[in-house]
Amino acid sequence: MQSFDYIIVGQGIAGSLLGYQLIKAGRRVMVLNDESIPTSSAVAGGIFNPITGKNLDKTWLADTIFPYFKTFYLSLEKETHSHFYHETNLFRPYANEQQRKHFLRLTDEFDLDKYISLVKPDRYSEIENHLGGLYTTSAGWVDVPLMIESLRQLFIQSEAYKAERFDYKALDISDTQVVYKNFQASKIIFCEGYYASQNPYFNWLPFNPAKGETLIATMPDYSITEIVNQGTWIIPLGSEQCRFGSTYVWNSLDWQTTPESKETITEKTDKFLKTSYTITHQQAGIRPTTKDRRPFLGNHPAYSNVFVFNGLGTKGVSLAPYFASELLFFLENDKDLLPESNIRRFYSLYSL
Ligand SMILES: Cc1cc2nc3c(=O)[nH]c(=O)nc-3n(C[C@H](O)[C@H](O)[C@H](O)COP(=O)(O)OP(=O)(O)OC[C@H]3O[C@@H](n4cnc5c(N)ncnc54)[C@H](O)[C@@H]3O)c2cc1C
Repeated sequence: MQSFDYIIVGQGIAGSLLGYQLIKAGRRVMVLNDESIPTSSAVAGGIFNPITGKNLDKTWLADTIFPYFKTFYLSLEKETHSHFYHETNLFRPYANEQQRKHFLRLTDEFDLDKYISLVKPDRYSEIENHLGGLYTTSAGWVDVPLMIESLRQLFIQSEAYKAERFDYKALDISDTQVVYKNFQASKIIFCEGYYASQNPYFNWLPFNPAKGETLIATMPDYSITEIVNQGTWIIPLGSEQCRFGSTYVWNSLDWQTTPESKETITEKTDKFLKTSYTITHQQAGIRPTTKDRRPFLGNHPAYSNVFVFNGLGTKGVSLAPYFASELLFFLENDKDLLPESNIRRFYSLYSL
């Protein structure tokens, strides 16, 4: 029997960053991850953006979590000798005169200077931007698959990783420990993203999963280094590749790509993109979105050594570093979790 402080199930963004922070804190960790199933982290655009939507809404906790994850990702890049953190402005060309006026009014009214700067008309030749637009600063994207692979290598070197599908029936929970096959640990933390729906301990949490698809395009004549977003986004990946996305579908939750999604994304992109492109790949994923749009962290209502880190929704890249650290302090020092993130808010939904 091998002994650990923590067993973590799942190595998407949630399990990766929590596992990493626990190992850094000197804890013995075993990450069990099924590498054979599709995951949300594998197809994420990876965008972080403090100001989003039609009404320039500020991302929840932006002033706290954005500086936190910047320091975190830069230090993780150094430690893993990989480059996955790409900070760049996000350009939103005005779609029409009405939107230009609306955005300018909101920028004035809500004092968004810290995160927004105005861009003059016709800054770029590859896209339609004759009215100008906005830059969201402090934005960018994380190459999530690369980050996860770098952390997997680190876990493997630390003998903290096993590629295995977790079998819930093989888990034995007592007051003082959990035992799973030949692993014994003080605590177990479930981080399975959308697959939590198959987890008998946490399938009662109110998820509202959203399927999404993205496209990879080759664009030899495109030289914009900023992310562009006008109802749909273009992320420059380098080497003449860009990612286009994404769609939101709540009623057909499978991992298959569809011609309809491809058409939706290309139609929206063609409205502002003037450069030719060739679509080379299409990917689908299911976001672990929640009904109240806040993450799920905390302790199982009936088992004191069973925990969850999930519900990162559409913002895994921005939320995961900060909330992995919050969960660590909760596990190790009994520090209270933010009530909006603590699954205690849904304990009334649980029945034995
Ligand atoms: C199309 C699309 C675009 C997106 N764009 C962005 C974006 O621009 N910015 C952003 O921040 N977020 C984005 N997201 C959201 C982001 O992908 C998620 O927030 C994040 O990846 C969730 O991570 P996770 O670790 O919770 O889940 P996942 O990435 O799904 O990881 C779960 C892990 O658990 C493992 N697992 C599950 N069940 C078991 C089991 N029984 N045994 C062992 N292992 C198991 C899986 O193999 C997987 O590795 C996007 C998502 C989609 C689908």
